[in-house]
Amino acid sequence: MALFDHVNLVYGTVSEFCTPSGCPDMTGPGQRTYLWFDEKGKKTKVAAPQYIDYVMTFIQKTISDETIFPTKYANEFPSSFESIVRKIVRLLFHVVAHLYAAHFKEVVMLGLHAHLNLTFAHLTALHHRFSLIEPKETEILRDLEVALRLTEDSQDTASNSERADDSSEADSKSNLMDASCVDNKS
Ligand SMILES: [Zn+2]
Repeated sequence: MALFDHVNLVYGTVSEFCTPSGCPDMTGPGQRTYLWFDEKGKKTKVAAPQYIDYVMTFIQKTISDETIFPTKYANEFPSSFESIVRKIVRLLFHVVAHLYAAHFKEVVMLGLHAHLNLTFAHLTALHHRFSLIEPKETEILRDLEVALRLTEDSQDTASNSERADDSSEADSKSNLMDASCVDNKS
């Protein structure tokens, strides 16, 4: 999965800034905190780097499992394939959400924001096509979707969309920047 490699790459370059003391919680935009579900389905609060390590390990293990992602012609996809893909996309979305919420400054500093935006665009396109993520998950990055023009803003009517584009784009981006700065100080 190319998407996995992209997320891995961007996170890899900022991972030195994502430490258990700097990111004791797996945060997303707003006040959201993601809890890790272990194999038994038990929720646990883990630091962001730990959470992301779990995500990457889980995905790596899953996509290299021949019984789940068959590469040989004779092997069939398991019936649970769709729910597994759903889970992978949701977990990748959490990582991207954390990158935007807590590490956008470093991402910009390293000149990787275009790369991150592209990765987010891929995830969003995948989601729109197959509805892989629940709306309550994606609504938190909805401003960004609109800012990157991945989605038509439903509140914008066709008549003023031309004019509204530039200002709304700038606003959403600066809001995001503000949010990330505040997070880092605390
Ligand atoms: Zn972090």
